[in-house]
Amino acid sequence: MARYTGSVCKLCRREKQKLMLKGQKCFTEKCPIEKRNYAPGQHGLSRRSKVSEYGIQLREKQKIKRSYGLLETQFRNYFEKASRQKGRTGENLVKLLERRLDNVVYRLGLAPSRKSARQLVCHRHIIVNDGLVDIPSFLVMPGDVIKVREKSKKLDMIHSSLKRMKDSLYSWLTIDKAKLSGVFLQIPERSEIPLNANEQLVVELYSK
Ligand code: SF4
Repeated sequence: MARYTGSVCKLCRREKQKLMLKGQKCFTEKCPIEKRNYAPGQHGLSRRSKVSEYGIQLREKQKIKRSYGLLETQFRNYFEKASRQKGRTGENLVKLLERRLDNVVYRLGLAPSRKSARQLVCHRHIIVNDGLVDIPSFLVMPGDVIKVREKSKKLDMIHSSLKRMKDSLYSWLTIDKAKLSGVFLQIPERSEIPLNANEQLVVELYSK
């Protein structure tokens, strides 16, 4: 599966926003955004400030796509799926992304970043209900139980990540830290999802 292999911190700097792609480092002063909150590259500081309407829409799309660790084709496919659903396409899009298994594992606190969560899934450490699932794009349904496979329960990464996680961070998830098991209670409302981006601009961008 194709994936982005460049510097993820550059992606945050390009969006001038913390996208939280690196796990623990994102919470420390080592985060490059703390010191250099401008676009990367030679002209990052001097880049012209007037941005076109297209430019603004593009940046919002990139922000969402990069936050969830997707490439263009994958993201576009989610958009097409969202546009076929009832309701507002932008909101449907964010709700679909939020249901991805790698994202749910990350939100449960079993991994410090979505990238690490994706690895956990791909390396067959995660069980949904009673079956092993190794597809990061698997869409979790309300009521699904997500747990760590018995023989993976000693993984340091999971425990250090959970230690940093506050209890009941998200209303649509519950986690039993002792059992390394969580439940996806319901699909969250857009207003509950901590994503600092305007998905309506993505709809406008793709509608051109
Ligand atoms: Fe983004 Fe995290 Fe890198 Fe900071 S440390 S720039 S939040 S990925």
